[in-house]
Amino acid sequence: MDDGVYLMVISPHPDDCEFGVAGTVARLTREVKNVVYVICTNGNKGTSDRSLTPEKLAEIREREQLDAAKVLGVKETIFLKYPDQELEDCHHFRRDLVRVIRKYKPFAVATTDPYRKYMWHRDHRITGIVAADAVFPCARDHLAYPELLEEGLEPHKVREMWFWGSDEPNFRQDITDTFDIKLQALRCHKSQVGDVPPEMVNRMKGFAKMNARGEKFELAEAFHCVEMRR
Ligand SMILES: [Zn+2]
Repeated sequence: MDDGVYLMVISPHPDDCEFGVAGTVARLTREVKNVVYVICTNGNKGTSDRSLTPEKLAEIREREQLDAAKVLGVKETIFLKYPDQELEDCHHFRRDLVRVIRKYKPFAVATTDPYRKYMWHRDHRITGIVAADAVFPCARDHLAYPELLEEGLEPHKVREMWFWGSDEPNFRQDITDTFDIKLQALRCHKSQVGDVPPEMVNRMKGFAKMNARGEKFELAEAFHCVEMRR
């Protein structure tokens, strides 16, 4: 197996990565490519159950995320543990992302598209913006965050960024054979999606079919892909 990380997935909350990219992740790990998850917030506001404390919810969601990552064969899951709904486009968050990018040196980074129009969870918008800035130029330039050099983290050039939830997808990944594993991973997020009822499965299948329109495969996840100049 190649020890390098092929894909780093930067997810605002536990579960977003499953909705956005899990079918692709399952296919990549089947191809023996390494995938790493970075979960930015602890998801501690994502419930309508008033008996759950934020601390307890964060604990549950971390466990659910680890279970989902295991189903998909993700090599490692890093939790940045920012409070839910409190991400900011700031120095600290950006440096945390630059740190993991320089440490794992992924070929590609997948995250949420920050430019999706109208109503879009602010954590998703901010994660997309900060992840893009962290990839380029911050992870690339040795004079950005010089303290990371002191930690032994050399600059790294990511080759591709894949944005999910995009209004302008230009890149489709075949998930025909891994759609069921995506569902299995989603089912790990019981506190968010319950048992994934049949209506939800149908809706997701509909989206996946729509994403694959015009392609030779039946089901897809769609992204806006940006290739970096060498
Ligand atoms: Zn989310």
